[in-house]
Amino acid sequence: MTTPTASAKILCVANQKGGVAKTTTAVSLGAGLALLGKAVLLVDCDSQANATSGVGLDPAALDRHLYHVLEGSAAPEEAIRPTEVQGLDILPANVDLVGIEMELAGRPGRETVLREALRPILGYEIVILDTPPSLGLLTVNALAAAHSVFIPLQCEYYALEGLSQLVNTIRLVKHNFNPRLYIEGILLTMFDARTRLTTQVNDEVRAHFRELVYETTIPRNVRLSESPSHGKPIFLYDPASRGAQSYLAAAREFLDRQRRPR
Ligand code: ADP
Ligand code: MG
Repeated sequence: MTTPTASAKILCVANQKGGVAKTTTAVSLGAGLALLGKAVLLVDCDSQANATSGVGLDPAALDRHLYHVLEGSAAPEEAIRPTEVQGLDILPANVDLVGIEMELAGRPGRETVLREALRPILGYEIVILDTPPSLGLLTVNALAAAHSVFIPLQCEYYALEGLSQLVNTIRLVKHNFNPRLYIEGILLTMFDARTRLTTQVNDEVRAHFRELVYETTIPRNVRLSESPSHGKPIFLYDPASRGAQSYLAAAREFLDRQRRPR
């Protein structure tokens, strides 16, 4: 059963730090939600195209991708591909996307190009936007297109400082382009409860952001780090791994939270 975009929920996975598991979270949460029966579209908004290759597509071999959609020479449907996970499709990217920020730079409405491009897409219940490690125009476009922001956070020094920059950007986008944008949740990734640093960051983030922080945490798991090089979401690569189990738990928690009042 699929529903039209009018009711599709659009999530932007964002954190301007690189290597905090944005892409891993976008792919794994998307695949997890698809396994739980949802019709999910993953949109790769990063020129590094890690989400694209992470679901098994060769970015260099694509003839249509997000660049064409943003530039206006292709409809999203022309670029969207199915993945090996039933229920999970992708609007892929490749390195051409590097040029789009320059191309859009002088254009009026440049911050809302992605939102306009996604508007006509039908048939998905959840759309997940994976973003680059910066707060540049592509991330702003993703924030402007989304209903909510999903923040993966690695438990390390300065995690909270980085978070306050992101919260400021969210506030700006909210004020200028997307008044109803809200924070969906914060997911602690590469979590190692044996280290004091993890415990400290965990306590601080929960004290500050309270119920926005997911009860589910994602452990450091070598299978999660191996799966992208095989072009397979974790549920196809190693469904029994702790990585797969924890992302499935995060997907369940996400769905549970949709039923609660905010
Ligand atoms: P980002 O998109 O924020 O730059 P990635 O999702 O690409 O981050 O993750 C950065 C690196 O860490 C990748 O090599 C990824 O495979 C690895 N990684 C992500 N999450 C985990 C985890 N829970 N355990 C081990 N490695 C992880
Ligand atoms: Mg990434």
